[in-house]
Amino acid sequence: MHTKFAQGLSLVGALLSAPVLAGGGHHHGEGHMQVALDGAVLDVNLVLPKADFGTIDPRGRQLLAAPSGQCVARAIQMLDTDLGDGHADITLAQTYDCAAPTSLSSIELSVFAWAPSLQEIELTYLSARHQVSQTVSDEQPAVLLGD
Ligand SMILES: [Zn+2]
Repeated sequence: MHTKFAQGLSLVGALLSAPVLAGGGHHHGEGHMQVALDGAVLDVNLVLPKADFGTIDPRGRQLLAAPSGQCVARAIQMLDTDLGDGHADITLAQTYDCAAPTSLSSIELSVFAWAPSLQEIELTYLSARHQVSQTVSDEQPAVLLGD
């Protein structure tokens, strides 16, 4: 039912699923997000347990908000990865086009609002100027990226 979102995601899935699979599975309530700013393009990938995704329709949703960089989201792409033993990961990928990328000073993870059983996200942010690794909770979804 999600085939239209899976198109073109094989590379993303191969890159992002490997670390999760290597760990032997996942913890329900916990996601892993990688955010990378390259020029004016912000690429966001989130891997979360399917148990926390349920039957959510990701169309029209945003993984995060980045108003300081005037970043506008493209459509979410989605990939389903079976881990066996009744568990699966969902990979959500979303690209943002930023009109003011050098002003990007913070992001706020919006996904907590529409995937409510998700409580924690291990975030990695990378740009030419900054590198941030931190655990983000649903109670404090905002992340400062530096000056
Ligand atoms: Zn599971």
